[in-house]
Parts: sequence; structure tokens; C-alpha cells
Amino acid sequence: EPVAIVIDGKSIAKQIRNEIAVEVSRVKDALGIVPGLAVILVGSRPDSQTYVRNKKKACEAVGITSQEVHLPEDSSEEEVLTAVSRFNVDPTVHGILIQLPLPKHMNEEKIVNAVSIEKDVDGFNELNIGRLAMQGRAPLFVPCTPKGCIELLTRSGIKIEGKRAVVVGRSNIVGTPVALLLQRHNATVSIVHSRTNNPAEITREADIVIAAVGVANLVRGNWIKPGAVVIDVGINAVDDPTSQRGYRLVGDVCYEEACKIASAITPVPGGVGPMTIAMLLSNTLASAKRLHNFQ
Ligand code: NDP
Repeated sequence: EPVAIVIDGKSIAKQIRNEIAVEVSRVKDALGIVPGLAVILVGSRPDSQTYVRNKKKACEAVGITSQEVHLPEDSSEEEVLTAVSRFNVDPTVHGILIQLPLPKHMNEEKIVNAVSIEKDVDGFNELNIGRLAMQGRAPLFVPCTPKGCIELLTRSGIKIEGKRAVVVGRSNIVGTPVALLLQRHNATVSIVHSRTNNPAEITREADIVIAAVGVANLVRGNWIKPGAVVIDVGINAVDDPTSQRGYRLVGDVCYEEACKIASAITPVPGGVGPMTIAMLLSNTLASAKRLHNFQ
């Protein structure tokens, strides 16, 4: 007997994409410019190729132009940096995205930080993350998945201010920035990670739980305070002989247990996943408007 409201990320993301499409045409009409995203992909990981294809398709659907530079796995760091510099000065490009992970022989830190902070739609440049961490400073961009988590909460009418929030996971791309964002929204935030003692006990104190771990079903029902809101970022493939592909996707939260205890929960798939791309589109549009001083 589930009590939790299901937070429908798919439909919220669709709504956001519709809003973006309207705004993209307003920008076109007013300025005669089209927001543009440039994607740099290095190597031939099939998952990365799929992500890039999906991002480009999503751009097209809202009227944002996209272009891709696809470099071979054995490219040099200089070649990637050259592509970044070219997009940094290209006036038709408002957002630059480096598809991660980069090949092992490359210095990811150096390449990510080479992206102009004005076009850093992934929000991974350390200047943007640094500003996110500091009081009274405004990052130009906030990373897409963390921003998507907050957007799911606010669009579902869930108040963040004053709440106890626990983030499970502390990666640079999800856990840490989402914790910083929750704090900016005036939650009281704890971070649980692989060295935390009694993670269940700490997580049970939370009014809002955000799980970004990469371990299927780690967060069990007894980690959740009755009535808490649960945002599950995890995307994990688990074997499933009954499915055609031989596997299915599950989150970091044991959904069957948590949905009986939480007041609201995101499903996997169909929760945070669709929000990530919607936030990339939103960041690209916002960038085009900012670069052209358009409100
Ligand atoms: P990382 O592997 O980079 O980070 C995982 C974090 O979880 C680390 O901080 C790690 O702690 C912590 N952790 C690992 N095991 C445990 C444990 N047993 N107990 C508590 N904490 C633990 O993963 P990401 O942040 O990149 O991704 C997390 C999940 O989110 C993945 O399933 C990924 O697929 C998904 N994801 C989904 C996206 C979406 O669009 N919906 C986008 C990005 C990611 P420590 O720091 O101590 O090692």
C-alpha cells in the first residue's frame, strides 16, 4: 500500500521543454539569433555516443541548434583544448559541453576548466562550482542533474527552506553540488558517503533525501523517515531475465519499500533522468539570453 505521491519527472521535464521552446522562439523573434550548443565527444564509448545523440535530439526539439565535434580516442589533449577555444570565441555557440568521461590519458580538470565560464552549461568549471559554494556569489551555471533535483522539488510544491536534507553521495557532478544547492535554498544539509558511520540513522533524520550513489537499492525503507520526500538520482542496471534486454534500470533507493514510507518519491526511470537534459536546454537558453543582454 504505497502512500507516496510519485513525482513524475517525465511530465515535469516535458512541461519545461515546452516552456523553453516558447522562450527560444521569443529570443529568435526579438534578436534574430538561435541559441546554440556545442558538444565535444572524445572516443567511442557507446553510452557517451547515446547521451550525445539524445542531447542533440532534445536541442532540436526545442529549436536550439547543436553541433558536435567528435575526436578519436587517441587524440591529444591539445586537440581537445583547440576545439574548446574555438567554441569559446564562436558567437553562434552559447553553451559548450564536454562529454565525460574523457579518455584516461587526458587531464579532465584542465579541459573542463578551459570552457569559458560564460558558456559552461554543465556548470563543471571550478569557478562556477566555487561560486556555488560561496555565500553571496552567483555561479553563471549550476550543474544540470542537481538543478533538476531542485526543480522537481519546487515544481512539486515541496518547500526546502528550514528542512533537514540528507544527500547520499558526494561526487563532483551530483552529490556535492546538490548539497550546495540545498544549502543555498536554506535547508540544513548532511552528506552521507562511503565512510559514513550509521548512514541509515543519519538518513532517517531527513525530511528530504537525495540519493546519488550508484549502488542499486542501497537506501532501504528503514532509512526513510515517515513522510520524507525522496529524490532518487541513481541509474543502475540489474539483471532481469524476464526483460527483453536482459536487464532493467533501478535507482539507489529500494522503491518498493520507500514508496510505503515516503510522502513523495521519484521513480527510476522517469524521475531525475529526464530533468537532466531539460536543465541542459534551460542553461543553454539562459546563456544565449545573458550573452545578448536579453531579459
Ligand atoms: P560516483 O560514483 O561518482 O559517486 C558515488 C558517491 O556515492 C561517492 O561519493 C561515494 O562515496 C558514495 N558511495 C558509494 N558507495 C556508498 C555506500 N555504500 N554508502 C554511502 N555512500 C556511498 O557517482 P555519481 O555521483 O556520478 O552518480 C551516482 C548515481 O547517479 C549513479 O547511479 C549514476 O548513474 C547516477 N546519475 C544519474 C544522472 C541522471 O541524469 N539521472 C546523472 C548522473 C549520475 P565516496 O566519495 O566516499 O567514494
